[in-house]
Amino acid sequence: AAPDPQAGAAVKAADRAHVFHSWSAQGLIDPLAVAGAEGSYFWDYDGNRYLDFSSGLVYTNIGYQHPKVVAAIQEQAGKLATFAPAFAVDVRSEAARLIAERTPGDLDKIFFTNGGAEAVENAVRMARLHTGRHKVLSAFRSYHGATSTAINLTGDPRRWASDTGTAGVVRFWAPFLYRSPFYSENEQQECERALAHLEDTIAFEGPATIAAIILESVPGTAGIMTPPPGYLAGVREICDKYGIVFVLDEVMAGFGRTGKWFAADNFDVVPDLITFAKGVNSGYVPLGGVAINAEIAATFDKRPYPGGMTYSGHPLACAAAVATIQVMEDEKVVEHAAHIGENVLGPGLRELAERHPSVGDVRGLGVFWAIELVRDRETREPLVPYNAAGEAAAPMAAVGSTMKKNGLWPFINMNRVHAVPACNVSESEVKEGLAALDVALSVADEYTA
Ligand code: PLP
Repeated sequence: AAPDPQAGAAVKAADRAHVFHSWSAQGLIDPLAVAGAEGSYFWDYDGNRYLDFSSGLVYTNIGYQHPKVVAAIQEQAGKLATFAPAFAVDVRSEAARLIAERTPGDLDKIFFTNGGAEAVENAVRMARLHTGRHKVLSAFRSYHGATSTAINLTGDPRRWASDTGTAGVVRFWAPFLYRSPFYSENEQQECERALAHLEDTIAFEGPATIAAIILESVPGTAGIMTPPPGYLAGVREICDKYGIVFVLDEVMAGFGRTGKWFAADNFDVVPDLITFAKGVNSGYVPLGGVAINAEIAATFDKRPYPGGMTYSGHPLACAAAVATIQVMEDEKVVEHAAHIGENVLGPGLRELAERHPSVGDVRGLGVFWAIELVRDRETREPLVPYNAAGEAAAPMAAVGSTMKKNGLWPFINMNRVHAVPACNVSESEVKEGLAALDVALSVADEYTA
């Protein structure tokens, strides 16, 4: 459609009149009015088109407006737009089957939620009831959602304002060689110290009080820290040793993002519970859930599971999941994400790092990458301080606005730019994104020592 700035201004004014935005100071935001989206792109009313290197909030894994998924939602709406969760509904059963067939090990029962945070809430509830224990261990540098338990499990500043109901939550330091709070010279040492630290934490907290350990398989918004080989397997062993439920949060890392259906598959690890959302249906209709192993599912064979939501397994959301998974199979989207990571996006980011002194670290896999911007490669001083806001965050804001000016929509968190396009992003789109990033990194370079 032709640009229509007046229509855009009206959309924005209507938003500012009544929409209360998440994570924002309402008087300080200026949301972009979106006119449309397709594939890896979206556009505004002023004629600007953006390549989306953020996949929304890292969830449009098959891009925007995939015609087959849109058609499946429309068809389901015409057939049975909604039905309560206590009934057997064909499309719900089919979505559960398709998910269960892709989860690792014996995680074959699916409890549906409306999103990721509810999945985490319910996974923790299941673990507590299954073990009869209360405490849950989670990692610093993590995000698990914005509801009560999920935000308290979160290991970053998004929790601070809501730090009220932390009873039973204990945090530990998962591996992260680049900024390890411990002395480690290589990934193997960092892995060993992280496992020893976790086991110490358990010993001092009391193993018999701990219901679950929750980890993002590959932590997402907190920095895409791919765990070193052996770490997740080590956590699995520790959980088995102490009878602790191992929960992997795959809300962001799951459904193709890492080049596998589930990120755990990269590490040959089978947890007891997996939380998922986002990519399960590319977020076309809200859906999340918990994949449950046989042992925990059996706990609730004779005893009622005390949890549920009105829209659990909503038919429109499930129809979107069935169609999305089918599209991902037919179009080999998961294999494509792995190929892009290995051959285009990963090498492209490393090449940028060679030329830009502001790039301190490049890490990731599949279509799940972070570059860490620093003032000094030697000291690793971040380009902006931890949790910087306002003036202190200006260098990252300058990087972000340069990306936007060059048609690339960024995902920025603290001193990091994440490159998290759709799993079906094309090679030429990735190259286009890398070219825009190249320009933006020159802005970051100006702040280096
Ligand atoms: N867990 C992880 C790893 C996430 O990345 C997110 C959201 O970004 C959540 C949980 C929360 O999901 P939701 O926003 O759907 O509640």
